[in-house]
Amino acid sequence: MDTGTTHHSPAGAQRTGESARRTGGRARQVDRRHVAVIGGGVIGLASAYRLAQAGLDVTVLERDAIGQGASWGNAGWIVPTLVQPFNAPGVATDAVKTFFKRDGYAALSQVPTPRLALWGLSFLRHSSAARSDRSLRALAAMAHDTAEATGTLAEELGFEIHRTGLLIPFASQEGLDQQAVTQTQLEELGYKGRTEWLDTGQLAAREPSLSSGLAGGLHLLDELTVRPDSMTAGLARGFVAAGGELREQTRVSGLHAEAGGHWKVRTASGADLLVDAVVVAAGEHSDVLLRRAGARVLLQSGRGCSVTLPGTISLNQAVKLAEVMVACSPFDNGKVRISGTFDLVGRDASTNRARMQHVLDAATPYLPGLADVDLETTEVWSGPRPATPDSVPVVGPVGKKPGLYAATGHGTLGMTLAAGTAATIAMHVGRLMRSRGVRVG
Ligand SMILES: Cc1cc2nc3c(=O)[nH]c(=O)nc-3n(C[C@H](O)[C@H](O)[C@H](O)COP(=O)(O)OP(=O)(O)OC[C@H]3O[C@@H](n4cnc5c(N)ncnc54)[C@H](O)[C@@H]3O)c2cc1C
Repeated sequence: MDTGTTHHSPAGAQRTGESARRTGGRARQVDRRHVAVIGGGVIGLASAYRLAQAGLDVTVLERDAIGQGASWGNAGWIVPTLVQPFNAPGVATDAVKTFFKRDGYAALSQVPTPRLALWGLSFLRHSSAARSDRSLRALAAMAHDTAEATGTLAEELGFEIHRTGLLIPFASQEGLDQQAVTQTQLEELGYKGRTEWLDTGQLAAREPSLSSGLAGGLHLLDELTVRPDSMTAGLARGFVAAGGELREQTRVSGLHAEAGGHWKVRTASGADLLVDAVVVAAGEHSDVLLRRAGARVLLQSGRGCSVTLPGTISLNQAVKLAEVMVACSPFDNGKVRISGTFDLVGRDASTNRARMQHVLDAATPYLPGLADVDLETTEVWSGPRPATPDSVPVVGPVGKKPGLYAATGHGTLGMTLAAGTAATIAMHVGRLMRSRGVRVG
């Protein structure tokens, strides 16, 4: 339902009464703002917060409630070390094998569509060694300062953050050796976090919930974990405190370029906006909105799932089970979240509980306590990662007309890259607003 709940009605919002007109008997009201941000996930909220802090009149339009999309039940890791792109030589062949196994990390769970075909072709094009390396360098650059930037945000906004690092245990020596190659590559690209290699005994001492007899592991001491809903709630609070307007239950139905370099943002509730700049941060729906506004961005939904367990196991820090692609995150409330899968699905797909069972089955040899989880009585969440074919998010001006910006396609790294994305969007929009004579802080 689109009822248009407004959390804050700023004094700065002006109604252009003369341009309000009747459509099908219903009055369309048009408010004048500097910036509209579409989507109240971590990317939209972080961008909106920085724009409002810079002194701009900003409205966030969210079709449901804030933070309920991919930004809800994810693992919450802020991980500059996990920037290896999906597009890499050989990955397409591995993915197809996994698709046929049906119990691996990735699955093809939709009837192929033109959207998926175009995305798949582009993914293949970006999977050469040279292009994969280009994606890795771009992601490493975007993630370079993210630990500091997210830490600063957490201090400003008081959301839950853990500075206990990321532990990566391996059952096989081969896995450890592969990780050593990856770490060397990342250090050459400027990764500056502290690392500690652990043998079997040290690993068991660091994380007693793990099975005994694993080959060893790596502790990335400077990686962070946030509780995702605490981060989005904190960003929303900070945004409103900085003078921003938050409209929930407000679905954007179209974007229209208007005279004078403005954009009309149409909503299904009939309360429209006339703005200088639109930031499309609508997660897996961003490509549709951008296409209607004349910009082409290829996105595919990569759905992942999670359960958040009270008291089943306890962990001293976040644990990545790299050999089976499962993420485990402990939070302050004593709960531990187990997440995984990257399923190519259509938009707004439903949760597939069988896929969560695969995640638990894969993780249990490492964390025997998970054998006790009964999915019949456990709430399973799933959310759509908005993924680009080259794994690199689209952040900045798009299309031919000024004032249209994309902030989407963060795939597996949306929490990690939110702070940096917000800074980039604030820089671009600030430049536009200054060119229009608006003071920007
Ligand atoms: C299982 C799982 C684990 C993950 N773990 C991590 C992790 O540890 N670290 C990490 O960095 N990333 C992780 N991710 C990825 C991360 O969750 C996403 O990249 C990130 O949440 C994307 O944020 P977003 O704001 O782009 O999208 P979303 O959070 O989906 O927000 C988009 C919003 O736009 C709204 N919207 C859509 N259409 C419209 C419209 N027409 N009008 C108005 N509003 C609209 C939606 O309702 C939604 O609220 C994980 C993802 C999953 C699924």
